[in-house]
Amino acid sequence: MEASDDLLRITARTRDDTPAACPACGQPSRWVHSRYERHVADEAVGGRPVVIDLSVRRLYCENPACEKVTFIEQVSGLTRRYQRRTPALQRVVDAVAIALAGSAGARLLSVLHHVLSWACVLNCLMRITLPARPAPRVPSGST
Ligand SMILES: [Zn+2]
Repeated sequence: MEASDDLLRITARTRDDTPAACPACGQPSRWVHSRYERHVADEAVGGRPVVIDLSVRRLYCENPACEKVTFIEQVSGLTRRYQRRTPALQRVVDAVAIALAGSAGARLLSVLHHVLSWACVLNCLMRITLPARPAPRVPSGST
């Protein structure tokens, strides 16, 4: 862990000896193809934004019938596919986006030590899935 006045940087690495499940078929695998570093933003601590430099594995799927040849392991509670924020930080950003949307949301997030453009906040708002609701039904016999 490395702390400066304006950033807290955490360097971490997933373990080599634990299997990771293929996202397509669920088969656990330990067969490592390669490693690469992800940079994931997390919730601010002590008034400083947090960046986690996380070394993750690309693994081969060991199931010959699976459509996936390789996959990237995900760390529960920390990474999600294609996301550069932890789920915890994304919940904060989503809540601010729902309450304030674009420019006002970006201003509040900068107070919370997360610099995002108004367009990025709006983009987060547009990606939030709406809760499923039953389709309204018209009672039979009404005109
Ligand atoms: Zn698979």
